[in-house]
Amino acid sequence: SAPGSALAAPEAGRDGLVLLRRVGVVDPGSLDDYRAHGGYAALRRAFALGPAGVIREVTEAGLVGRGGAAFPTGRKWAATAQQPDHPHYLVCNADESEPGTFKDRVLMEGDPYALVEAMTIAGYATGAHRGYLYLRGEYPRALRRLRTAIDRARARGLLGEDVMGQGFAFDIEIRRGAGAYICGEETAIFNSIEGRRGEPRSKPPFPVEKGLFGKPTAVNNVETLVNVLPILIEGAQGYARTGTSASTGTKLFCVSGTVARPGVYELPFGATLRELLELAGPPKTLRAVLLGGAAGAFVRPDELDVPLTFEGTRAAGATLGSGVVLVLDDSVELPRVLLRIAEFFRDESCGQCVPCRVGTVRQEEALHRIKDLTGDAAAGDIALLREVGRAMRDASICGLGQTAWNAVESAIDRLGAFK
Ligand code: NAD
Ligand code: SF4
Repeated sequence: SAPGSALAAPEAGRDGLVLLRRVGVVDPGSLDDYRAHGGYAALRRAFALGPAGVIREVTEAGLVGRGGAAFPTGRKWAATAQQPDHPHYLVCNADESEPGTFKDRVLMEGDPYALVEAMTIAGYATGAHRGYLYLRGEYPRALRRLRTAIDRARARGLLGEDVMGQGFAFDIEIRRGAGAYICGEETAIFNSIEGRRGEPRSKPPFPVEKGLFGKPTAVNNVETLVNVLPILIEGAQGYARTGTSASTGTKLFCVSGTVARPGVYELPFGATLRELLELAGPPKTLRAVLLGGAAGAFVRPDELDVPLTFEGTRAAGATLGSGVVLVLDDSVELPRVLLRIAEFFRDESCGQCVPCRVGTVRQEEALHRIKDLTGDAAAGDIALLREVGRAMRDASICGLGQTAWNAVESAIDRLGAFK
């Protein structure tokens, strides 16, 4: 399908679109068309502000990471920029593989020059002269379009030794993942780029201090980077007028499951889950919504007024994560869904640390046993799941193991699964 077709909510019009405003409108292969639609105005503004000025704007705008963890981008860039060790690197995490997440794909396929421009700005701000774009291997169309965009930008002096004649050298290299979920973990990306096994490293040290090739590295998700363009064009205050004080701007939501119009929706932070479902066409008999992906949590039909913000979902015991909104109607067999999630984590665990390597297997086994059981028969295995889940959360090296029990736990506690 064309990239624009993943952009649902056409009935809502293009008003209010910030990140998606060019998607489906601009010719993704044409640098001239990108410029005609406002492209490269943000980089020009970045050069006028200087690196510290760019970081100040991004910090004052309140931008936080859109990969799922919501870490303040300005703080990450400032920490990278101030490191005395050189060279600095920029890595764009485009290994979008959280089940149910497809927003970065829409951005990269529909507006590839926006990512190239945003990476150039991030490199300028953090003092990096080289950016790696680590792209999910299953995104061949994004690969083609980004390759073309990078080549054309370079040919026109928008990448290379002297970007825009401003004396700043910056170039981008694409590296492709090979289908491993764990290679989206930021330190596993470093190992993958360096030619090692894609296994996470222990943090700290954080990448801002010791990242790619052991050097200071800023790692940012695609959607995070693309937000920098409206921040520089509108200014921090203009940007922060949208959303809430703790979650500024707009967010891309990936709506899938039993809705009439699945797709990527852009809404200001603070819209409720109910409003988003109304746009997507909710099922008649809603059973639950999985928010935040396989590492996220289930929300019940009586909780749809939760505001879609980082703070609002956290207060409701859920998470926004990378923007997954997976809708389940009452025809769905919840135990099968949970088992599928458990299989996924068992399959994708890199096996490096024991709590996750063993825990994801034990979790899957227990879910297999209790899938068809109810009441007392399931109680022992539910207790085992809790114990294993606690061990994975407390003792795993990386986010995969730490969150592998989240969805199952929320299904048991919030939805009464297996009762
Ligand atoms: P994290 O909280 O460990 O880190 C978030 C970011 O902040 C990282 O870049 C980290 O380096 C940085 N950071 C944290 N503390 C820091 C400090 N003191 N100084 C400097 N930098 C610091 O989270 P994570 O493990 O990187 O990511 C977990 C998230 O990833 C989850 O929320 C999950 O939803 C999401 N996720 C997304 C996808 C996807 O496809 N988008 C896939 C899997 C997981
Ligand atoms: Fe690997 Fe799991 Fe340990 Fe992460 S938590 S390092 S995926 S074994």
